[in-house]
Amino acid sequence: MTTTVADSTFEVHDPAILAGARAILDACCSGQEMQDAVLAAVRRNERWRGEQCINLLAPEAPTSPAVRALLSSEVGTRAAEGHIGRVNRWFAGTAHIDEIEALCVELLKQVFRARYADHRLVASMIGNLAVYTALTAPGDVIMSIPQPFGGHSSNRPDGPAGVRGLKIVDVPMDPVELEVDLDLFRKTAALVRPKLVALGASMTLFPFPLREMSAALEEWGGKLFFDGAHQVGLIAGGQFQDPLREGAAVLTGSAGKTFSGPQSGIIVWDDPALTQPITQAIFPVLAATHQVNRVAALAVAAAEMIAFGERYMAQIVGNAQALGAALAARGIPVLGAHKGYTRTHQVIADARAFGGGLDTAHTLARANLITNKNLIPGDRPEDWDRPGGLRLGTIEVTRLGMGEPEMATIAGFMARVLVEREAPESVMEDVIDFRQGYQTLYYDFEQGLPPHLPNRS
Ligand SMILES: *Cc1c(COP(=O)(O)O)cnc(C)c1O
Repeated sequence: MTTTVADSTFEVHDPAILAGARAILDACCSGQEMQDAVLAAVRRNERWRGEQCINLLAPEAPTSPAVRALLSSEVGTRAAEGHIGRVNRWFAGTAHIDEIEALCVELLKQVFRARYADHRLVASMIGNLAVYTALTAPGDVIMSIPQPFGGHSSNRPDGPAGVRGLKIVDVPMDPVELEVDLDLFRKTAALVRPKLVALGASMTLFPFPLREMSAALEEWGGKLFFDGAHQVGLIAGGQFQDPLREGAAVLTGSAGKTFSGPQSGIIVWDDPALTQPITQAIFPVLAATHQVNRVAALAVAAAEMIAFGERYMAQIVGNAQALGAALAARGIPVLGAHKGYTRTHQVIADARAFGGGLDTAHTLARANLITNKNLIPGDRPEDWDRPGGLRLGTIEVTRLGMGEPEMATIAGFMARVLVEREAPESVMEDVIDFRQGYQTLYYDFEQGLPPHLPNRS
Protein backbone atom coordinates (compact mmCIF):
# COMPACT_ATOMS: atom_id res chain seq x y z
CA MET A 1 0.00 0.00 0.00
CA THR A 2 1.19 3.45 -0.84
CA THR A 3 1.36 5.87 2.04
CA THR A 4 1.33 9.04 -0.05
CA VAL A 5 -2.40 8.92 -0.76
CA ALA A 6 -4.43 10.21 2.15
CA ASP A 7 -7.84 9.00 0.99
CA SER A 8 -8.13 5.21 0.76
CA THR A 9 -10.77 5.53 -1.97
CA PHE A 10 -8.46 7.56 -4.18
CA GLU A 11 -8.61 6.64 -7.88
CA VAL A 12 -7.04 8.30 -10.90
CA HIS A 13 -9.84 6.91 -13.06
CA ASP A 14 -13.36 8.29 -12.98
CA PRO A 15 -14.77 6.71 -9.77
CA ALA A 16 -18.35 6.66 -11.12
CA ILE A 17 -17.33 4.63 -14.19
CA LEU A 18 -15.37 2.17 -12.06
CA ALA A 19 -18.37 1.85 -9.74
CA GLY A 20 -20.57 1.13 -12.78
CA ALA A 21 -18.23 -1.70 -13.79
CA ARG A 22 -18.33 -3.15 -10.27
CA ALA A 23 -22.13 -3.09 -10.39
CA ILE A 24 -22.11 -5.01 -13.69
CA LEU A 25 -19.71 -7.62 -12.28
CA ASP A 26 -21.69 -7.90 -9.03
CA ALA A 27 -24.80 -8.70 -11.06
CA CYS A 28 -22.99 -11.55 -12.87
CA CYS A 29 -23.49 -15.09 -11.57
CA SER A 30 -20.49 -16.64 -13.34
CA GLY A 31 -17.18 -15.96 -15.08
CA GLN A 32 -18.95 -16.60 -18.35
CA GLU A 33 -21.38 -13.76 -17.67
CA MET A 34 -18.43 -11.52 -16.85
CA GLN A 35 -16.90 -12.43 -20.20
CA ASP A 36 -20.18 -11.60 -21.92
CA ALA A 37 -20.23 -8.18 -20.25
CA VAL A 38 -16.83 -7.43 -21.78
CA LEU A 39 -17.85 -8.68 -25.22
CA ALA A 40 -21.05 -6.64 -25.15
CA ALA A 41 -19.10 -3.44 -24.47
CA VAL A 42 -16.72 -4.23 -27.34
CA ARG A 43 -19.68 -4.80 -29.67
CA ARG A 44 -21.35 -1.56 -28.63
CA ASN A 45 -18.19 0.34 -29.48
CA GLU A 46 -17.79 -1.51 -32.77
CA ARG A 47 -21.30 -0.63 -33.85
CA TRP A 48 -21.23 2.99 -32.69
CA ARG A 49 -17.66 4.10 -33.43
CA GLY A 50 -17.11 1.58 -36.22
CA GLU A 51 -20.33 2.07 -38.19
CA GLN A 52 -22.30 5.12 -37.06
CA CYS A 53 -19.77 7.84 -36.25
CA ILE A 54 -17.69 10.17 -38.35
CA ASN A 55 -14.28 9.77 -36.73
CA LEU A 56 -12.21 12.88 -37.03
CA LEU A 57 -9.63 11.95 -34.42
CA ALA A 58 -6.25 12.86 -35.88
CA PRO A 59 -4.26 10.05 -34.18
CA GLU A 60 -6.69 7.29 -35.14
CA ALA A 61 -6.68 5.10 -38.24
CA PRO A 62 -8.77 2.13 -39.29
CA THR A 63 -6.53 -0.75 -40.37
CA SER A 64 -7.28 -2.92 -43.37
CA PRO A 65 -9.06 -6.24 -42.72
CA ALA A 66 -5.75 -8.01 -43.50
CA VAL A 67 -3.92 -6.06 -40.79
CA ARG A 68 -6.73 -6.59 -38.29
CA ALA A 69 -6.81 -10.32 -38.96
CA LEU A 70 -3.09 -10.62 -38.33
CA LEU A 71 -3.50 -9.05 -34.91
CA SER A 72 -5.26 -12.21 -33.75
CA SER A 73 -2.92 -14.62 -35.55
CA GLU A 74 -1.28 -17.64 -33.89
CA VAL A 75 2.16 -16.08 -34.02
CA GLY A 76 0.98 -13.53 -31.46
CA THR A 77 1.15 -16.23 -28.80
CA ARG A 78 4.87 -16.86 -29.46
CA ALA A 79 7.69 -15.28 -27.53
CA ALA A 80 10.72 -14.13 -29.48
CA GLU A 81 13.07 -11.95 -27.49
CA GLY A 82 16.23 -10.53 -28.93
CA HIS A 83 17.63 -9.69 -32.35
CA ILE A 84 16.74 -11.64 -35.47
CA GLY A 85 18.81 -14.81 -35.98
CA ARG A 86 19.62 -18.19 -34.52
CA VAL A 87 22.51 -17.14 -32.29
CA ASN A 88 20.91 -13.86 -31.24
CA ARG A 89 17.72 -15.35 -29.81
CA TRP A 90 17.37 -17.06 -26.48
CA PHE A 91 14.70 -19.47 -27.76
CA ALA A 92 14.92 -22.14 -30.46
CA GLY A 93 12.02 -22.63 -32.88
CA THR A 94 12.01 -19.08 -34.20
CA ALA A 95 12.94 -19.70 -37.85
CA HIS A 96 9.60 -18.46 -39.22
CA ILE A 97 9.45 -15.64 -36.71
CA ASP A 98 12.88 -14.54 -37.97
CA GLU A 99 11.41 -14.56 -41.47
CA ILE A 100 8.40 -12.42 -40.47
CA GLU A 101 10.51 -9.96 -38.52
CA ALA A 102 13.15 -9.67 -41.26
CA LEU A 103 10.40 -8.99 -43.81
CA CYS A 104 9.08 -6.24 -41.54
CA VAL A 105 12.51 -4.64 -41.07
CA GLU A 106 13.27 -4.70 -44.79
CA LEU A 107 9.82 -3.36 -45.69
CA LEU A 108 10.24 -0.47 -43.23
CA LYS A 109 13.67 0.33 -44.72
CA GLN A 110 12.10 0.43 -48.18
CA VAL A 111 9.11 2.52 -47.18
CA PHE A 112 11.28 5.13 -45.45
CA ARG A 113 14.26 4.87 -47.82
CA ALA A 114 16.39 4.29 -44.69
CA ARG A 115 19.46 2.13 -44.00
CA TYR A 116 18.18 0.90 -40.62
CA ALA A 117 14.80 0.17 -39.05
CA ASP A 118 13.55 -1.55 -35.92
CA HIS A 119 10.28 -3.43 -35.56
CA ARG A 120 10.12 -4.00 -31.80
CA LEU A 121 8.55 -0.81 -30.46
CA VAL A 122 5.23 -1.61 -28.81
CA ALA A 123 4.54 2.15 -28.80
CA SER A 124 6.03 5.26 -30.28
CA MET A 125 6.52 6.52 -26.70
CA ILE A 126 8.95 3.62 -26.25
CA GLY A 127 10.71 4.70 -29.46
CA ASN A 128 11.21 8.16 -28.04
CA LEU A 129 12.52 6.73 -24.78
CA ALA A 130 14.89 4.54 -26.84
CA VAL A 131 16.22 7.65 -28.60
CA TYR A 132 16.77 9.46 -25.29
CA THR A 133 18.39 6.36 -23.79
CA ALA A 134 20.70 5.93 -26.80
CA LEU A 135 21.64 9.52 -27.59
CA THR A 136 21.60 11.42 -24.29
CA ALA A 137 22.84 11.15 -20.73
CA PRO A 138 21.03 12.44 -17.64
CA GLY A 139 21.63 16.17 -17.21
CA ASP A 140 22.04 16.85 -20.94
CA VAL A 141 20.24 19.79 -22.48
CA ILE A 142 17.72 19.14 -25.23
CA MET A 143 15.21 21.39 -26.96
CA SER A 144 11.62 20.47 -27.78
CA ILE A 145 8.32 22.09 -28.76
CA PRO A 146 6.09 23.32 -25.90
CA GLN A 147 2.58 21.84 -25.64
CA PRO A 148 0.51 24.92 -26.68
CA PHE A 149 2.34 24.72 -30.04
CA GLY A 150 1.63 21.02 -30.40
CA GLY A 151 4.58 19.60 -28.45
CA HIS A 152 4.02 16.10 -27.06
CA SER A 153 4.59 14.97 -23.48
CA SER A 154 7.13 12.34 -24.60
CA ASN A 155 9.63 15.09 -25.34
CA ARG A 156 8.75 17.22 -22.33
CA PRO A 157 9.42 17.06 -18.57
CA ASP A 158 6.33 14.90 -17.92
CA GLY A 159 7.34 12.13 -20.35
CA PRO A 160 10.31 9.95 -21.40
CA ALA A 161 12.61 12.96 -21.84
CA GLY A 162 11.77 13.96 -18.27
CA VAL A 163 12.44 10.53 -16.74
CA ARG A 164 15.79 10.49 -18.55
CA GLY A 165 16.64 13.53 -16.41
CA LEU A 166 17.16 15.90 -19.33
CA LYS A 167 17.10 19.68 -19.11
CA ILE A 168 14.46 20.79 -21.58
CA VAL A 169 14.50 24.16 -23.32
CA ASP A 170 11.63 25.28 -25.57
CA VAL A 171 11.99 25.40 -29.35
CA PRO A 172 10.70 28.94 -30.05
CA MET A 173 7.57 28.92 -32.17
CA ASP A 174 5.81 31.62 -34.16
CA PRO A 175 2.17 31.74 -32.96
CA VAL A 176 0.84 33.16 -36.23
CA GLU A 177 2.83 31.18 -38.77
CA LEU A 178 2.61 28.03 -36.56
CA GLU A 179 6.21 27.28 -37.50
CA VAL A 180 9.57 27.34 -35.77
CA ASP A 181 10.85 30.89 -35.24
CA LEU A 182 14.16 30.22 -36.94
CA ASP A 183 16.03 33.37 -35.87
CA LEU A 184 15.11 32.90 -32.24
CA PHE A 185 15.90 29.18 -32.49
CA ARG A 186 19.43 29.90 -33.78
CA LYS A 187 20.04 32.34 -30.92
CA THR A 188 18.66 30.06 -28.21
CA ALA A 189 20.43 26.97 -29.53
CA ALA A 190 23.79 28.79 -29.70
CA LEU A 191 23.29 29.74 -26.06
CA VAL A 192 22.25 26.38 -24.60
CA ARG A 193 24.00 24.05 -27.14
CA PRO A 194 21.47 21.22 -27.04
CA LYS A 195 22.69 17.65 -27.53
CA LEU A 196 19.40 16.86 -29.27
CA VAL A 197 16.57 18.91 -30.72
CA ALA A 198 13.32 16.94 -30.69
CA LEU A 199 10.68 17.95 -33.19
CA GLY A 200 7.62 16.10 -32.00
CA ALA A 201 4.23 17.63 -32.60
CA SER A 202 0.76 16.26 -31.95
CA MET A 203 -0.66 19.40 -33.48
CA THR A 204 1.11 19.55 -36.80
CA LEU A 205 0.00 21.65 -39.72
CA PHE A 206 3.13 22.73 -41.59
CA PRO A 207 6.66 21.42 -42.31
CA PHE A 208 9.73 22.30 -40.21
CA PRO A 209 12.86 24.10 -41.48
CA LEU A 210 14.95 20.97 -40.87
CA ARG A 211 17.97 21.82 -43.04
CA GLU A 212 18.40 25.22 -41.39
CA MET A 213 17.92 23.78 -37.92
CA SER A 214 20.38 20.93 -38.35
CA ALA A 215 22.95 23.36 -39.82
CA ALA A 216 22.57 25.48 -36.69
CA LEU A 217 23.54 22.49 -34.51
CA GLU A 218 26.66 21.54 -36.49
CA GLU A 219 29.12 23.65 -34.48
CA TRP A 220 28.81 21.47 -31.35
CA GLY A 221 27.60 18.25 -32.99
CA GLY A 222 23.97 18.50 -31.83
CA LYS A 223 21.52 16.13 -33.50
CA LEU A 224 18.02 16.58 -34.85
CA PHE A 225 15.46 13.99 -33.75
CA PHE A 226 12.21 13.97 -35.71
CA ASP A 227 9.37 12.47 -33.69
CA GLY A 228 7.01 12.02 -36.59
CA ALA A 229 4.35 10.14 -34.60
CA HIS A 230 1.61 11.82 -36.60
CA GLN A 231 3.34 12.33 -39.92
CA VAL A 232 5.14 9.01 -40.64
CA GLY A 233 2.40 7.84 -43.01
CA LEU A 234 2.57 11.12 -44.90
CA ILE A 235 6.38 10.80 -44.98
CA ALA A 236 6.17 7.20 -46.25
CA GLY A 237 3.71 8.26 -48.94
CA GLY A 238 5.92 11.15 -50.03
CA GLN A 239 3.36 13.79 -49.03
CA PHE A 240 5.35 15.61 -46.33
CA GLN A 241 8.95 16.65 -45.84
CA ASP A 242 11.47 13.77 -45.74
CA PRO A 243 13.26 14.18 -42.39
CA LEU A 244 16.14 11.74 -42.95
CA ARG A 245 17.02 13.52 -46.21
CA GLU A 246 16.74 16.96 -44.59
CA GLY A 247 19.13 16.56 -41.68
CA ALA A 248 17.32 14.49 -39.02
CA ALA A 249 19.47 11.75 -37.49
CA VAL A 250 16.55 9.62 -36.31
CA LEU A 251 12.88 9.38 -37.22
CA THR A 252 10.34 7.77 -34.89
CA GLY A 253 6.61 7.51 -35.39
CA SER A 254 3.36 5.84 -34.46
CA ALA A 255 2.38 2.93 -36.67
CA GLY A 256 -1.30 3.56 -35.93
CA LYS A 257 -1.70 7.23 -36.89
CA THR A 258 -1.33 8.29 -40.56
CA PHE A 259 0.67 5.10 -41.22
CA SER A 260 -2.60 3.20 -40.66
CA GLY A 261 -1.02 0.07 -39.20
CA PRO A 262 -1.32 -1.60 -35.79
CA GLN A 263 -0.97 0.83 -32.86
CA SER A 264 2.76 0.65 -32.01
CA GLY A 265 6.01 2.38 -32.95
CA ILE A 266 8.40 2.74 -35.87
CA ILE A 267 12.02 3.92 -35.78
CA VAL A 268 14.40 4.43 -38.72
CA TRP A 269 17.85 6.01 -39.14
CA ASP A 270 20.75 6.07 -41.62
CA ASP A 271 23.99 6.48 -39.66
CA PRO A 272 25.68 3.11 -38.86
CA ALA A 273 27.25 4.73 -35.77
CA LEU A 274 23.76 5.02 -34.24
CA THR A 275 22.85 1.37 -34.83
CA GLN A 276 24.54 -0.07 -31.75
CA PRO A 277 23.23 2.49 -29.23
CA ILE A 278 19.67 2.58 -30.61
CA THR A 279 19.34 -1.17 -30.98
CA GLN A 280 20.84 -1.73 -27.53
CA ALA A 281 18.30 0.70 -26.05
CA ILE A 282 15.46 -1.25 -27.65
CA PHE A 283 16.76 -4.66 -26.61
CA PRO A 284 17.61 -5.49 -23.88
CA VAL A 285 16.60 -2.17 -22.29
CA LEU A 286 13.02 -1.41 -23.36
CA ALA A 287 11.57 -4.48 -25.10
CA ALA A 288 11.64 -8.21 -24.41
CA THR A 289 8.67 -9.95 -26.01
CA HIS A 290 7.36 -7.55 -28.59
CA GLN A 291 4.13 -8.99 -30.04
CA VAL A 292 5.09 -10.81 -33.25
CA ASN A 293 1.45 -10.68 -34.44
CA ARG A 294 1.83 -6.91 -34.35
CA VAL A 295 5.14 -7.16 -36.25
CA ALA A 296 3.41 -9.18 -39.00
CA ALA A 297 0.58 -6.64 -39.11
CA LEU A 298 3.09 -3.79 -39.32
CA ALA A 299 4.84 -5.54 -42.22
CA VAL A 300 1.56 -5.81 -44.13
CA ALA A 301 0.72 -2.16 -43.37
CA ALA A 302 4.14 -1.27 -44.85
CA ALA A 303 3.36 -3.31 -47.98
CA GLU A 304 0.03 -1.46 -48.29
CA MET A 305 1.96 1.79 -47.96
CA ILE A 306 4.25 0.78 -50.84
CA ALA A 307 1.24 0.02 -53.06
CA PHE A 308 -1.25 2.71 -51.99
CA GLY A 309 0.64 5.19 -49.76
CA GLU A 310 1.10 7.93 -52.33
CA ARG A 311 -2.58 8.11 -53.37
CA TYR A 312 -3.95 7.50 -49.88
CA MET A 313 -1.79 10.13 -48.18
CA ALA A 314 -2.35 12.70 -50.97
CA GLN A 315 -6.11 12.29 -50.53
CA ILE A 316 -5.78 12.62 -46.73
CA VAL A 317 -4.02 15.99 -47.16
CA GLY A 318 -6.43 17.12 -49.90
CA ASN A 319 -9.36 16.25 -47.66
CA ALA A 320 -7.87 18.13 -44.70
CA GLN A 321 -7.41 21.25 -46.82
CA ALA A 322 -10.97 20.93 -48.12
CA LEU A 323 -12.31 20.42 -44.59
CA GLY A 324 -10.44 23.50 -43.33
CA ALA A 325 -11.85 25.67 -46.11
CA ALA A 326 -15.39 24.31 -45.68
CA LEU A 327 -15.37 24.92 -41.91
CA ALA A 328 -14.09 28.48 -42.36
CA ALA A 329 -16.77 29.15 -44.98
CA ARG A 330 -19.43 28.06 -42.48
CA GLY A 331 -18.23 30.31 -39.68
CA ILE A 332 -15.92 27.98 -37.75
CA PRO A 333 -12.51 29.69 -37.41
CA VAL A 334 -9.55 27.54 -38.46
CA LEU A 335 -5.87 28.09 -37.63
CA GLY A 336 -3.43 28.70 -40.49
CA ALA A 337 -6.16 29.98 -42.83
CA HIS A 338 -3.69 32.41 -44.45
CA LYS A 339 -1.47 29.45 -45.40
CA GLY A 340 -4.10 27.14 -46.85
CA TYR A 341 -5.09 25.66 -43.45
CA THR A 342 -2.78 22.65 -43.42
CA ARG A 343 -0.15 20.54 -45.17
CA THR A 344 -0.98 17.42 -43.17
CA HIS A 345 -3.98 15.30 -42.13
CA GLN A 346 -4.92 17.80 -39.40
CA VAL A 347 -7.20 20.79 -39.16
CA ILE A 348 -7.21 22.89 -35.97
CA ALA A 349 -10.36 24.86 -35.23
CA ASP A 350 -10.45 27.71 -32.74
CA ALA A 351 -13.37 26.69 -30.52
CA ARG A 352 -13.26 29.58 -28.06
CA ALA A 353 -16.40 31.19 -29.56
CA PHE A 354 -18.27 27.88 -29.04
CA GLY A 355 -17.38 27.38 -25.39
CA GLY A 356 -13.84 25.96 -25.76
CA GLY A 357 -12.41 22.66 -26.91
CA LEU A 358 -13.65 20.37 -24.12
CA ASP A 359 -17.36 21.22 -24.30
CA THR A 360 -17.29 21.54 -28.07
CA ALA A 361 -15.82 18.04 -28.51
CA HIS A 362 -18.41 16.51 -26.16
CA THR A 363 -21.29 18.37 -27.82
CA LEU A 364 -20.14 17.15 -31.27
CA ALA A 365 -19.85 13.58 -29.94
CA ARG A 366 -23.59 13.72 -29.15
CA ALA A 367 -24.03 14.19 -32.91
CA ASN A 368 -21.68 11.21 -33.58
CA LEU A 369 -18.92 13.57 -34.72
CA ILE A 370 -15.75 12.45 -32.90
CA THR A 371 -13.02 15.07 -32.35
CA ASN A 372 -10.72 16.10 -29.53
CA LYS A 373 -9.97 19.19 -27.48
CA ASN A 374 -6.56 20.65 -28.20
CA LEU A 375 -4.23 23.29 -26.84
CA ILE A 376 -3.67 26.20 -29.18
CA PRO A 377 -1.21 29.11 -29.01
CA GLY A 378 -2.41 31.47 -26.29
CA ASP A 379 -3.64 28.72 -23.94
CA ARG A 380 -2.05 29.06 -20.53
CA PRO A 381 -0.97 26.13 -18.30
CA GLU A 382 -4.11 26.55 -16.18
CA ASP A 383 -6.25 26.07 -19.34
CA TRP A 384 -4.79 22.66 -20.20
CA ASP A 385 -7.86 20.63 -19.20
CA ARG A 386 -10.12 23.13 -20.96
CA PRO A 387 -8.11 24.40 -23.91
CA GLY A 388 -9.33 26.66 -26.70
CA GLY A 389 -8.83 24.42 -29.71
CA LEU A 390 -10.42 21.49 -31.43
CA ARG A 391 -8.32 19.03 -33.46
CA LEU A 392 -9.69 17.23 -36.51
CA GLY A 393 -8.04 14.64 -38.73
CA THR A 394 -8.99 13.08 -42.04
CA ILE A 395 -7.37 9.63 -41.87
CA GLU A 396 -10.47 7.52 -41.28
CA VAL A 397 -12.89 9.43 -43.49
CA THR A 398 -10.36 9.16 -46.32
CA ARG A 399 -9.89 5.43 -45.87
CA LEU A 400 -13.67 5.05 -46.02
CA GLY A 401 -13.49 6.41 -49.56
CA MET A 402 -14.51 10.02 -48.96
CA GLY A 403 -13.17 12.91 -51.04
CA GLU A 404 -13.45 16.71 -51.05
CA PRO A 405 -17.26 16.86 -51.56
CA GLU A 406 -17.84 14.79 -48.42
CA MET A 407 -15.63 17.18 -46.42
CA ALA A 408 -18.14 19.94 -47.19
CA THR A 409 -20.93 17.69 -45.92
CA ILE A 410 -19.04 17.01 -42.68
CA ALA A 411 -18.33 20.72 -42.18
CA GLY A 412 -22.07 21.28 -42.66
CA PHE A 413 -22.90 18.81 -39.86
CA MET A 414 -20.43 20.56 -37.55
CA ALA A 415 -21.80 24.01 -38.37
CA ARG A 416 -25.36 22.88 -37.66
CA VAL A 417 -24.29 21.92 -34.14
CA LEU A 418 -21.87 24.75 -33.39
CA VAL A 419 -22.99 27.76 -35.42
CA GLU A 420 -26.71 27.16 -35.92
CA ARG A 421 -27.06 25.59 -32.46
CA GLU A 422 -29.27 22.78 -33.70
CA ALA A 423 -29.80 19.96 -31.18
CA PRO A 424 -26.90 17.50 -31.59
CA GLU A 425 -29.31 14.55 -31.40
CA SER A 426 -31.18 15.69 -34.52
CA VAL A 427 -27.92 16.19 -36.43
CA MET A 428 -26.90 12.71 -35.26
CA GLU A 429 -29.70 11.14 -37.25
CA ASP A 430 -28.37 12.68 -40.46
CA VAL A 431 -24.80 11.71 -39.55
CA ILE A 432 -25.84 8.07 -39.14
CA ASP A 433 -27.69 8.17 -42.49
CA PHE A 434 -24.69 9.67 -44.24
CA ARG A 435 -22.23 7.25 -42.62
CA GLN A 436 -24.32 4.28 -43.75
CA GLY A 437 -23.06 4.93 -47.30
CA TYR A 438 -19.41 4.61 -46.24
CA GLN A 439 -18.76 1.21 -44.69
CA THR A 440 -15.91 -0.09 -46.87
CA LEU A 441 -12.22 0.56 -46.28
CA TYR A 442 -10.04 1.30 -49.32
CA TYR A 443 -6.33 1.61 -50.08
CA ASP A 444 -5.69 -2.08 -49.40
CA PHE A 445 -5.20 -5.21 -51.52
CA GLU A 446 -8.83 -6.28 -51.15
CA GLN A 447 -10.53 -3.08 -52.33
CA GLY A 448 -7.81 -1.04 -54.04
CA LEU A 449 -8.55 2.64 -54.58
CA PRO A 450 -11.98 4.17 -53.83
CA PRO A 451 -14.41 4.59 -56.74
CA HIS A 452 -13.91 8.38 -56.97
CA LEU A 453 -10.21 7.98 -57.83
CA PRO A 454 -9.20 7.09 -61.41
CA ASN A 455 -6.93 4.14 -62.29
CA ARG A 456 -8.40 1.57 -59.95
CA SER A 457 -5.74 -1.04 -59.34
C1 LIG B 1 0.98 10.25 -30.38
C2 LIG B 1 2.34 10.78 -30.16
C3 LIG B 1 3.32 10.02 -29.51
C4 LIG B 1 3.01 8.71 -28.85
O1 LIG B 1 2.71 7.73 -29.78
P1 LIG B 1 2.16 6.30 -29.32
O2 LIG B 1 2.32 5.48 -30.56
O3 LIG B 1 0.74 6.51 -28.93
O4 LIG B 1 3.00 5.79 -28.22
C5 LIG B 1 4.60 10.53 -29.45
N1 LIG B 1 4.92 11.73 -30.00
C6 LIG B 1 3.99 12.51 -30.60
C7 LIG B 1 4.42 13.81 -31.18
C8 LIG B 1 2.67 12.06 -30.68
O5 LIG B 1 1.75 12.82 -31.27
